[in-house]
Amino acid sequence: MSTFQAPKGTYDLIPPHSATYLAVREAIAAPLKNSGYGYIETPGFENVELFARGVGESTDIVTKEMYAFETKGGDRLALRPEGTASVLRAALEANLHKAGNLPVKLWYSGSYYRYERPQKGRYRHFSQVGAEAIGAEDPALDAELIILADQSYRALGLRDFRILLNSLGDKECRPVYRAALQDFLRGLDLDEDTRRRVDINPLRVLDDKREAVQKQLAGAPLLRDYLCEACKAYHEQVRELLTAAGVAFEDDEKLVRGLDYYTRTTFEFVHDGLGSQSAVGGGGRYDGLSEMIGGPALPSVGWALGVDRTVLALEAEGITLDIPAATAVYAVPLGEEARRVLFRAVTELRRAGVATDFAFGGKGLKNAMKSANRSGARLALVAGERDLAEGVVQLKDLTSGEQTAVALDAVVDEVRRALS
Ligand code: AMP
Repeated sequence: MSTFQAPKGTYDLIPPHSATYLAVREAIAAPLKNSGYGYIETPGFENVELFARGVGESTDIVTKEMYAFETKGGDRLALRPEGTASVLRAALEANLHKAGNLPVKLWYSGSYYRYERPQKGRYRHFSQVGAEAIGAEDPALDAELIILADQSYRALGLRDFRILLNSLGDKECRPVYRAALQDFLRGLDLDEDTRRRVDINPLRVLDDKREAVQKQLAGAPLLRDYLCEACKAYHEQVRELLTAAGVAFEDDEKLVRGLDYYTRTTFEFVHDGLGSQSAVGGGGRYDGLSEMIGGPALPSVGWALGVDRTVLALEAEGITLDIPAATAVYAVPLGEEARRVLFRAVTELRRAGVATDFAFGGKGLKNAMKSANRSGARLALVAGERDLAEGVVQLKDLTSGEQTAVALDAVVDEVRRALS
C-alpha cells in the first residue's frame, strides 16, 4: 500500500522548522498582549450563513473558496476562511460589547481554510494571527493596530515590507462612488464574469490583476475624490498619528481588499521579496459588519497577519530567528542501573525547570553522544557502573569537552550552576 500524503495545498510543520512558526506567532502576538488585547478562540467551523453575510456573498472567498458542507444532523457549516466574522459573532454572543468597556480588544491565532489554487505563499490551509478592536470609532484605534503590526514585523527583523493605506469611505459617500464607478466600468470592454462583478462588487474590479483590464482602468474615478468630509478628516487623523509614531506608509488609492464589509481605513502589509503573493497581512475598519450579522451598530477595526507568508518573508530577507535550543541537558546512561538512576535525575531536572532529554532505546555511547550533540544541549550527564559505585555522574560541557564528576544528590544544583 502506498503511504499517505498531506492533501493538496497543505503542508506539515515539522521540527526544527516548526519552531520558527511558533516564534513568528509569538512575535506577532506579543505587542497585542502588551496593549490590552485579550485572547479569543473560536471554533474552526461556523454556520455557513455567518460567512455568507459577514464576508459577503459577492466575494471569491464565499462563492468559490469556502469549504462548506452539510452535517449528518442537517446543519450547513463551513470551515472558517477568515477570522473577523467569527470573532465578532463570539463577542456579540457573549455580550462583551455590553460590559461597558468599549472597545473590546481581542487577538487570536489559528488555522484558516480556503479552496484556492495552490502556489508558493498560497495554501488551502494557512495560519493567521489576528486582532480586532470592536465598538469604537477612533482614528487612534486604527493607528494603534497598524503600529502594532509594524512593531511585530520589526521585532522579527523584517525590513523589506511596505504599508499601503487607503480609505474606503462610509455608508454616506461609498454608494455615490460605487455608482460612479459602475457607470465608468459599464463603458469598458470586459468579459462576462467581470461584467457581473461590476454589478455586485465593482470595487473588486479595480483589483483585477490582468493587464488588459488594468489598461482600461486608467481613467477610473478615484474614491479619494468622493470621500465625504467626515471620512476625509478621519483618514487625515489616522495618517497624522502614524506619521507621529514614525511608521512609514504609502497612500494607495486603488487598495480595496477582497471583503465586502470594509469601511474607511483599509491597509495591507506587502513584502517585496515574495513575488505574486506579496500580501503578508491586511485589515481595516468594518463599521457595518455587526449589523450585517444581526448585532447592534459597533464600529470596529482589525487585521490579520499571515504566518506562512511572514515565514517566507523571513526567508526572503535571509533572517534566521534566534531560537534557543529546546534542550539544555542530555542524559546518557551506560547500562541498566545507570538508566534507572539517570532517568530519575532527568525527572528531577525537569521538575526544577531545566529542559532535559534522555537517550532512550538503549543506545551505545557513541550514538547517544551524537544525539546529545544534535539536541543542541550544552551539557551531557553521563553515568556508567563505575560512576554509580562512587555515587557520582559525569557532567560534560558539550562545547568545551570538559568533564567533571558531580555527586548524584547535587546534580540539580551543579547543572544549574553550569548553565548560569
Ligand atoms: P485576507 O483575509 O485575505 O486579507 O488575508 C490576510 C492574510 O492572510 C494575507 O495577507 C496572507 O498573509 C494570509 N493569507 C490569506 N490567504 C492565504 C492563503 N491561501 N495562503 C496563505 N496565506 C494566506
